[in-house]
Amino acid sequence: MSSETLFTKIVNREIPADIIYEDDLLLAFKDINPQAPFHALVIPKQVIATANDITAENSDVVGKMYVAAAKIAKQEGFADDGYRLVMNCNEHGGQTVYHIHLHVLGGKPMGWPPYTDKAKKA
Ligand code: AMP
Repeated sequence: MSSETLFTKIVNREIPADIIYEDDLLLAFKDINPQAPFHALVIPKQVIATANDITAENSDVVGKMYVAAAKIAKQEGFADDGYRLVMNCNEHGGQTVYHIHLHVLGGKPMGWPPYTDKAKKA
């Protein structure tokens, strides 16, 4: 599967992004709408649409996304204070871009649970 996504356009430099990490398999760039003092997205260059599409065959690159996220947290200086890694899946998870991405959020203490409940009260 190699369909074009918003994020493959960033990989291919067809749209601009503040790229902070790149290797042969991964790209990381600042989120355009940051939800924390530091907010970046780590993506695989190959398109994996959702967390439901993670398999034994592509799990290696998914593991490497976490390695890159930890490296970024150390480089940014908030690894020891702590940070949050999030991957939203499908509608209920709040996913809007169907190319998996690990949100790396840091730079302030964060509450739990992390979500705003979208469901209307009856
Ligand atoms: P999600 O809702 O988990 O699918 O996250 C998608 C994320 O992509 C959101 O946090 C958006 O702010 C972010 N985003 C959308 N377009 C861009 C872009 N062109 N550059 C950087 N981040 C983007």
